This record gives sequence, structure tokens and C-alpha cells, in this order.
Amino acid sequence: MEIYLDNAATTALDPEVIEAILPFLTNHYANPSSAHGAGRRVKEAVDQARRTVAHLLGAAPEEIYFTAGATEGINLALSGAIQAYDLSHVITSRIEHKAVLQTLKRHEKEGDIETSFVKLDERGNVDLYHLENLLRANPRTLIALMHGNNEIGNLTDIHAIGVLARRYNAVFFTDTTQTMGKAHFDLQEADIDFLVGSAHKFHGPKGAGFVYINQKHHLKPLIYGGGQERGQRGGTENVVGIVGLAKALDVAYRNLEANRNKVSKLKQYLVSKLAISGIEGICYNGESKSTENSVANVLSVSFPCLSTGSLVAKLDQVGIQVSGGSACQGGGASHVIQALACEADKENVRFSFSKFNTFEELDLVVDAITRIYESDPVVSTQAGWKKIASWA
Ligand code: PLP
Repeated sequence: MEIYLDNAATTALDPEVIEAILPFLTNHYANPSSAHGAGRRVKEAVDQARRTVAHLLGAAPEEIYFTAGATEGINLALSGAIQAYDLSHVITSRIEHKAVLQTLKRHEKEGDIETSFVKLDERGNVDLYHLENLLRANPRTLIALMHGNNEIGNLTDIHAIGVLARRYNAVFFTDTTQTMGKAHFDLQEADIDFLVGSAHKFHGPKGAGFVYINQKHHLKPLIYGGGQERGQRGGTENVVGIVGLAKALDVAYRNLEANRNKVSKLKQYLVSKLAISGIEGICYNGESKSTENSVANVLSVSFPCLSTGSLVAKLDQVGIQVSGGSACQGGGASHVIQALACEADKENVRFSFSKFNTFEELDLVVDAITRIYESDPVVSTQAGWKKIASWA
């Protein structure tokens, strides 16, 4: 048995994406910067991919820059904005992805910026009043707040934050890695300066991403080279990745409502099955159980500690792939779970679904979990989170 419920970490390639990239793995291998016909044809494919992404997001093609993934886009947007505009203050939250937190930490260490952490409520939601107070006290701030959280699924009201950003003349970056292809964006209307996407999160290839940079900005590049990506990112383009990214995003937006409906039903089904599983002491982290306030395909569940090892590892042994971190057996939760007012002595499991999952798979998963608990007298060993969890 192989059941893959780790789609917030990465996803399987969509068959349409495989079909779209095959010619670029075989015949169309020319360098898009080459002046001959073969090069021009490949360049046209890259330009077409840029137009597709821009069109899907309501942006201009000149606002889309291809990168090697969200991490690079985040580094480019944050470091580029801090350096280009001499921004000395950044507002972020304790539950951002490490790509954001580590980038900001480096700038803080180097004395470029001071960082303020916006208050979160006990479910991990941004306190907008606190955000406004921080903005009022610090003109010319960079805001770095994510749209969908990768561990607990919480959705942030990026429209409200964008309005505040404009009111206080701040620059707004939002990490949309988990919502790209799953939520609609209209970047002509939104008050967003920068956002990012990573193809492998929406059934595209790994190592391909993009950053949207609103055309009023020009950032300091991270990677200097042959002037590719209008000088914003040197290096020969990852043509296969770029073509695959655009196709994957196109497929995702074509089927957005159907996919959202499906994964949302899968989430509700798993919640209802767990409720009647007989396992006591299950709780849900952040907003992940909510159908409105969380990314539809992420469900973060805290389970009581097993006495004989980790639930995630036991599920792996029977071919069920999920992510998690455990406070049991001296393990520890991630920085996100630690930032929440969560019960300490639990094992935290992230189930994340895709359009390829089925209800039957979830029946098998709940059967497996129930069997594991039945064969293990549950003992809550110790409080406190110590080991670092393995979240993607
Ligand atoms: N931001 C969020 C919210 C993510 O979930 C991830 C990946 O897990 C990233 C950034 C980094 O993406 P990548 O590893 O594709 O660069």
C-alpha cells in the first residue's frame, strides 16, 4: 500500500505537465539566448510561459520573473526590497516559512533591519490592530506575511493587509507558495508588491518558481550573470521547469473550483472519520479544521502520544506518507506549533491532500491509525517540545 498525503511538501506531476515538457527534454534543447531559430523557438516558449502566468494572476508579463523556486523568490523579494529601498524595519510573524524567517534573521544580524513580530491569536491568526499600530509607529516598513500557512493551513486576509500597507506607505510581500493555483489572485487590483510561487506545490516540476514584482519596483538582483530575466536573475533559464510551471498553473486554475471542492470534502471526511474512530484526545491546530479560514488541502491534527514510537513513523511503515513532529518520546514541535497555544504533549500530524487522493484512501488511513492506537496503550509521556520536526 502507498498512500501519499504529503501534498503540502510536494505534489505529483500532472500528466498534462509531463506532456508539455517532453519536447523540451528532447528536441527543443536550444539556449533561449541563442540568436538562431532553435534558440528563438525556445525563447518563445519561455515568453509564452511568462504570459500565461501573468494572465492567470492578473499581472503584466514584465512583472513575472522565473526563479528556482519559492525560496529563491522570497530571498530576492525580501533582500532586494530591503537593499533597493533602504528599508530598516520589517514586520513578520512567528509562523512564516523558514525561507522568510532565516532571510530576515540574516539582515537583522547584519544590522540592516529591525524585525517586529505581529501578534497572533491562539489559533495563529494575525492581529490586524497590532499590525496597524506597528505600521503607524514605523514608516517605510516592509511587511512579510504569508497567505496560507504550510503547517496549519491558516489563511491570512492579504487584502486587508494590502490596504494597511498602502495606507502607511509600506511595502508588502506575501508568501503565496501554498495558495498558488488554489486561490484566485488579481494583482492589478490587489495591494501586493511581491509574491511567489513554486511549481512543485501545484503538480509542476521541482526547482522552478517565480516571483511577481510589481512594475513600480526594481529590485537589487541576488544572482548576477548574463542579463537573463531582464537583469533581475542571471543564468540560463530552466526551460523545462518554466514550461512545466506555466502548464501546471494553467491546469490548476482551469480546475480550481473542482479541486478545491474535492480536497475540502476529503478534509471534512477525514475529520468526521477521526471523530468516530474512538481515539480520545485528538485536537486540530490553528484554523486547519475550518473550511473558510484555512487552505482547503491541509489538515493539522494533534494526536495523543503513543508509548511505542511515533505515529508518523508507524504510518510510514505501512506505506502512508504524512508530515509531522512529535512532543512524545522527547521529540519537539516545529516553530509554528510552538507559536500557537497548543497542547504540549501531543504528536502533531499534517495530512495534506491533492486531487489525486480518494475517500477510500482515507478509510484505509483511519483504519491504520485506529489499529496503531488499539495495539498501543496510550500514555502521555512528557510535556515540552524538544526535537525539531521535519516540515517541508
Ligand atoms: N514558503 C512556504 C509557505 C512553503 O510551504 C515552502 C515549501 O515548503 C516554501 C516557501 C519554499 O518552497 P521551495 O522549497 O519550493 O523553494
